[in-house]
Amino acid sequence: MEGIVKGLIDLIFPPLCAFCGIPLAEDDEGEICPGCLRTIRFASPPICPKCGLPFPMEAGEDHFCGVCIQRQWHFGSARALGLYEGTMRDAIHLLKYGGKAFLAKPLVGLLDRGYPFIDYGSYDLLVPVPLHPKRLRERGFNQALLLGRAVGRREGVSCTGFVLKKARWSAPQIHLSPKEREANVKGSFAVVDRGRVRGKRVLLIDDVMTTGSTVNECARELLKAGAKEVDIFTLARAV
Ligand SMILES: [Zn+2]
Ligand SMILES: [Zn+2]
Repeated sequence: MEGIVKGLIDLIFPPLCAFCGIPLAEDDEGEICPGCLRTIRFASPPICPKCGLPFPMEAGEDHFCGVCIQRQWHFGSARALGLYEGTMRDAIHLLKYGGKAFLAKPLVGLLDRGYPFIDYGSYDLLVPVPLHPKRLRERGFNQALLLGRAVGRREGVSCTGFVLKKARWSAPQIHLSPKEREANVKGSFAVVDRGRVRGKRVLLIDDVMTTGSTVNECARELLKAGAKEVDIFTLARAV
């Protein structure tokens, strides 16, 4: 009976692609249409085992990228689901700047299609990269928290937006060089609940990783507060 009712509802109101709004065909899986899906490039091996950067070649061993050969990161490893382009970029843009908070769930639904690289269940806690209170007021929500909660619900790991805060305002990073970005975020995050992170394996969540300076600074603070290990997961990697 339930199946018949659902069938009728789908007939009258066919499910729509969460990203572009066209009606989905019966055999489309998830909440995304084939057209939107085609524009998403999921990260797949070979990748840099440290920062997760996917290499353009299709085959070969994982190996350290040029940046990770030279630099010491605070986080253990970073992984992104896909590249910051196509539908992935458009949807993240709408989520952040278009107020489309509902997109967090279908974006996290894409985890099913990505390369399986994270054992979420092995983490004690998911921690989203926080927004400064002024930015939070402007936007109305923290997209990283929405993503973290969606990942947490899916994977059965708790997610909290109350352990890490953005204590100091930092200028938008978009036109800054990697070195300038590092200086810009230095000391701008603070752990407000040390008890919650002490001895814990933490997975830090954000929407996009660009140079890695923001997530690295968050990892530094969490480790300073006693976290045992901090890894990074972002939906997208800007290259
Ligand atoms: Zn679509
Ligand atoms: Zn790397």
